[in-house]
Amino acid sequence: MTQVEHGRGSAVVVAIDGPAGAGKSTVARELARRLGYVLVDSGALYRGVALAARERGVSWDDGDALGAMTRQLKLAFVSEPDGTPRLQIDGRDRAGEIRSPEISMGASRVSIHPPVREALLGVQRQLGAAGGVVLEGRDIGTVVFPQAQAKIFLTASAAVRARRRVDELQARGEGVDYETTLADVEARDRQDSTRELAPLRPAEDSVLLDTSGLPLDEVVDKAQLIVQQRMEASLS
Ligand code: C5P
Repeated sequence: MTQVEHGRGSAVVVAIDGPAGAGKSTVARELARRLGYVLVDSGALYRGVALAARERGVSWDDGDALGAMTRQLKLAFVSEPDGTPRLQIDGRDRAGEIRSPEISMGASRVSIHPPVREALLGVQRQLGAAGGVVLEGRDIGTVVFPQAQAKIFLTASAAVRARRRVDELQARGEGVDYETTLADVEARDRQDSTRELAPLRPAEDSVLLDTSGLPLDEVVDKAQLIVQQRMEASLS
């Protein structure tokens, strides 16, 4: 169903899940580039909902209002030359604004509400429907595309993930300190893995990759190998 022929072999759905800072964005982007696939950043959609809600005065705790708002939003991605997906809301580029620590926390808050998850489920399935796509998130392999041919769950220790996030934010000129970031990472982990709906957990048929001690290009090599093996298996 999710597998289609694109004239250049079999184009499959690749699901990359894992907690914040496990290296998902970098690995997913590089993997999509190597495979010639489109990349969908599902976290950006939740961030977009949090940003839009704040602008419209909708509470991050009001699930019904958030769901109604989300169904009205036009959420789309435009690719940068290196394949990085940039979120557009109602035709306007919001890729920079959704990356602040405040919106990170907001995304985690809005993501617990079933009406929000349902609205974004449709968006994600539509974006991945044609195959030839790498989707990164928290519940791609478990909920969004349970039939994905290749599923990878990236992990890393909280300390490593916090360090990466500090480096990433500092590279963008945002001053953040390590202790606060570590506390944020741990709070988001708790929130994401204990929520009732679609909690963060590896799909049974996913391959676990711990990225703590590995340079990210080695992680990409491993991920690419996993995808190739799964592609071959899904063809046989
Ligand atoms: O991946 P990113 O850090 O951009 O995700 C922001 C937040 O969106 C996460 O902390 C999580 O709460 C939520 N999210 C989710 N399901 C996804 C992707 C993100 O609940 N598939």
